[in-house]
Amino acid sequence: MARKPILSPTRLSTYLACPVKYRWTFVDPRGRVLQRAKWYYSFGSSLHRTLEELYRRDLSGVPIKEAVAETLEENWISAGFHSPEEAEEALAEGRGILTTFVETEIQKPEGVEVLDVERRIQKDMGEYILLGVVDRINRRPDGSIEIVDYKSLRSETKPEDVRNDLAMMCYQILVRSLFEAPRYYSTIVSLRTNHTATVEISQEEVDLFTEDLNALATEILNREFHEIEPRWKPLCADCDFLPLCKRHEDFHPPSG
Ligand code: SF4
Repeated sequence: MARKPILSPTRLSTYLACPVKYRWTFVDPRGRVLQRAKWYYSFGSSLHRTLEELYRRDLSGVPIKEAVAETLEENWISAGFHSPEEAEEALAEGRGILTTFVETEIQKPEGVEVLDVERRIQKDMGEYILLGVVDRINRRPDGSIEIVDYKSLRSETKPEDVRNDLAMMCYQILVRSLFEAPRYYSTIVSLRTNHTATVEISQEEVDLFTEDLNALATEILNREFHEIEPRWKPLCADCDFLPLCKRHEDFHPPSG
């Protein structure tokens, strides 16, 4: 029996940004040779991997600054930076961001139980498998579940951004399939400033989102990607696949 297709928040948001980009990234192998490493993915992955490792370690009595510096260096990815100096600057910034974050979060758990970090969860949605990696799952003292996502480049997140975040709603579906709780929350931590925004998500909101998600999945899974004509949009200017799209006779980048 054929394996079901997998959809993740990354795949879904790539499709929503540009279906042609989805084609070159996930469907047509000709796109692979053009994909370049991005410094912001390297930076984000380095911070995520470091936090995962720190959460799994017992940090009691350990000097936080040194532990963060050591763990970040071990997990540092420099692909995509324009120069060693740029990578070094980012490493120093990452060290500062994580030291502040770990000092406030890990040293003051406030009765919150960390159930898991970087948890990979998949759920059979019928026509497809929904897959996501959740940064952190907390059980709060009142028994509720809090899904935490770190944004490494953001300085602030508004509550409505959390509520409308596609990845966070996917995580709500995934986490609810594993952990029962009376209430569920979504939290986004903007690592640059340690700013946090939390909202409670109801079952009704998840049900509505699931309907939209299934409709989007059906569209993606039935799309004839080779028939889609690329159209110029602001995103194109910095897109790896511009050389491929430029070959299309009706694709017209703005002149000048
Ligand atoms: S160049 Fe533009 S149309 Fe082509 S894949 Fe990239 S974003 Fe989409």
